[in-house]
Amino acid sequence: MLCIRHMTLYTPEERIDDAVILIDYGRILAAGTSSTVGVPTGTEVLDARGLVVAPGFIDLQINGAFGDDFTQAPEAIWHVGAQLPRHGVTAFLPTIITSPLTQVARAQEALAAGAPSGWQGSKPLGLHCEGPFLNPQKKGAHNPNHLRLPQVEDIRHWSVDNHVRLVTLAPELPGALELVRILVDRGVVVSAGHSMANYAEAQAAFAAGVRYGTHLFNAMSPLEHREPGLPGALLAAPAITVGLIPDGIHVHPAVVALVWAAKGAIRRLTVVTDAMAALGTAPGRYQLSDQEVIVTEESARLVSGSLAGSILSMDEALRRLIAYTGCSLEAALATVTATPADLLGIGQERGRIRAGASADLVFLTPELEVVRTMVAGTIVYEKD
Ligand code: ZN
Repeated sequence: MLCIRHMTLYTPEERIDDAVILIDYGRILAAGTSSTVGVPTGTEVLDARGLVVAPGFIDLQINGAFGDDFTQAPEAIWHVGAQLPRHGVTAFLPTIITSPLTQVARAQEALAAGAPSGWQGSKPLGLHCEGPFLNPQKKGAHNPNHLRLPQVEDIRHWSVDNHVRLVTLAPELPGALELVRILVDRGVVVSAGHSMANYAEAQAAFAAGVRYGTHLFNAMSPLEHREPGLPGALLAAPAITVGLIPDGIHVHPAVVALVWAAKGAIRRLTVVTDAMAALGTAPGRYQLSDQEVIVTEESARLVSGSLAGSILSMDEALRRLIAYTGCSLEAALATVTATPADLLGIGQERGRIRAGASADLVFLTPELEVVRTMVAGTIVYEKD
């Protein structure tokens, strides 16, 4: 049994000063204050005085990092996962972008095979398949040669049981809504993205079961006051959650603040990194799937200039969200913990510090620098 004490705890819904967390066999037994949580004598104690403790971060969209690209080399999921805790990430959806469907199958095999023996790190919760059923007009950095029209046959092995958690598609494509219904039936969350859907088409997508919007504003129809398009529909629907990349490049900081006003307080905003292979490495030339990407200190772009994912880390994303919106720490933390967990239907198990949940925790300085990360009660990252 392990007791962590004296920190400021965010569950994230509640802030508790001078808090206590009791952990046993990788799970949280209790969380509260020293007057509400009894600590058995002889329990190992970790003093976290001066630190903020929050649920570990969950990234719903990450293409790779530390030199590896998941679409090119799905087997790298474990290698990257082992290093993500340095950014406070304790669970993630490795994202497979538009590519031959065999790459999704390879990624499913990599997850089915499980972690290498002795492996520790951020847990892959299943794949985010971003494509190949996307609108060619909004292909972004996806290779148009691999885009496909929706076909039931193509997704016959896609389900939560087969390690597919989230699918981004363009709902206006012919046959897309049938795929939405089938995937939702199999427990998969379906998202609208890389899409030219107008407002009416977006409404039809929500009615069919779409519950998420992928990187709001990026690679979608524009928001216009007489035709709100997909972004307007996503922002106006209270039941729909959106993903946002707050790197200051994908979306202007002022628009991040507008999105916050629409989606922040109702807990329908998830911050994602959309990070690519260059996260955690030096600027240079990298791959995103089979496309070459030029990475500078600020951005990752195709030779054509199209943004090709980001080099944003999750802890930096959190700090920027607060800087751009002025939101509270507890509200900001929800966008990377409870809200993504709730979207995936695992909000009892992850994304919250509550009795019974996995002891996935991040320890932060008051300036929100990651100093320690714990997955299932085991320390998997400790800053020197
Ligand atoms: Zn994308």
